[in-house]
Amino acid sequence: MTHWREREAALIHTLNHDALTGLDNLIALKAAIGAAQDEADLTRTHAGLVLLDIDDYQRINRALGYDAGDELLRETARRIQHTAGFGERVARVAGDEFAVLLPAGTTAELAESLGRRLLTAIAQPYRHRGQHTHLSASVGVALYPDQAAKHAKSGAQTNLLRMADHALSQAKESGGNALVFHTIDNNPADAERLKLEADLYEAVRNGEFSLYFQPITKIRTGAVVGVEALMRWNHPVHGLVPPSTFIPLAESIGLINYLGNWVLKAACMQITQWDAIGIRLDYVSVNVSPQQFRDKRFTAAVKEALALTGIDARRLVFEITESLLMHDPEEATCLLEALTSIGIRFAVDDFGTGYSSLAYLQRFPLSKLKIDRSFVENLVTSRNNRAIVSAVVGLAQSLGLELVAEGVETEAQRDLLAELGCDHIQGWLICHALPSDELARSFQSNSLVLHETL
Ligand code: C2E
Ligand code: CA
Ligand code: CA
Repeated sequence: MTHWREREAALIHTLNHDALTGLDNLIALKAAIGAAQDEADLTRTHAGLVLLDIDDYQRINRALGYDAGDELLRETARRIQHTAGFGERVARVAGDEFAVLLPAGTTAELAESLGRRLLTAIAQPYRHRGQHTHLSASVGVALYPDQAAKHAKSGAQTNLLRMADHALSQAKESGGNALVFHTIDNNPADAERLKLEADLYEAVRNGEFSLYFQPITKIRTGAVVGVEALMRWNHPVHGLVPPSTFIPLAESIGLINYLGNWVLKAACMQITQWDAIGIRLDYVSVNVSPQQFRDKRFTAAVKEALALTGIDARRLVFEITESLLMHDPEEATCLLEALTSIGIRFAVDDFGTGYSSLAYLQRFPLSKLKIDRSFVENLVTSRNNRAIVSAVVGLAQSLGLELVAEGVETEAQRDLLAELGCDHIQGWLICHALPSDELARSFQSNSLVLHETL
């Protein structure tokens, strides 16, 4: 009996602890958060959560090796434990992410002060094999109950972990080495955002997304060579929510991978459905956001979508931005090479708005450039924009890249682009983004013409 009890205790311990640091793990933390929230409700006080994430930890791992990386994590765990006070629970919640739970009865000041002391503790040099290494961290702090609770429809926003996580991503976005306190403070814009965030989860559950497609045409003949897949969210109350609103939101709450994979499959599927009714497009172009691109499972997801639908990889184009390429050029090169080797092509989206030099482009296996709409917009009146477009045309030609001008709205713009040597256009002049069946009808009624490949 005692033996059995010991084994049970050992099992419970492993289930609730992190093997590397001996701290509580996420499972244990979640249980403790639930209890602290209940206690705060009962005593009409507050509980708090401080989340800490080491900045750029992958860089450390790569530079010093995984053993050193592990040692730094253990040392970080020790520092956090020393900094945390009596009754405050320390947990390791993910690779390089730690949490300290402040029990009911705490205040915003106490939580924030702990966060600041943690930042200072991490900023002290680490010694590894006689060498000094410097780390920094990002910290997100949240208090329960929060003002947001008043506005929230679903209980999801009132969870400490989600609120602190939200603050943590903001600290990360601001460049790291920073503390952000989760505040709502009756700011209607924030409340609105939170509401939309909750709706986004709901939208995933209810399948409120659809794909629209916008044709990309040959500038001279007007024939359609491919389409760009553009996501739409049909919100039950607000109607169509523009992607400029919900994509950044999906990125910040980690839903973009899910949505991106859905787009990928739906776009490939659509190609086969058009094929079946005799509308044979050369390719479908899909926007890939940086988070998707950096996800280790991305390549597998792409291969799965191809296998599932049976489409030829050469009919898939990925649109990525310059900043995605420049974030980690080596990583990007590897991934681009892996995917181009199976036939997928890459286009640089919004070209000209990034900070990259033109010379870097040669390093990557790219197929297309899409000149940003902003250059097309004032093309007719701005000599400067004309010069830029003309330079991009020259660049594309010398690198053997296909060029697409985005956002072409007038005949004057199209004529000027043709004169400058641009070969493809996309924009309202030709066609808005349309649902798949409407697009099919446009082909059937000949208001759009297919480009015939030989
Ligand atoms: P983008 O990739 O630059 O897409 C082009 C945007 O320009 C689309 O807006 C399109 O409807 C709009 N547009 C096309 N022609 C014209 C024109 O002649 N005039 C004007 N004024 N606008 C035109 P949309 O659909 O609102 O998409 C906005 C952005 O959201 C996209 O910009 C893209 O960055 C992002 N997005 C859309 N779908 C997805 C997706 O599935 N995944 C990801 N990661 N991002 C997406
Ligand atoms: Ca695009
Ligand atoms: Ca674009």
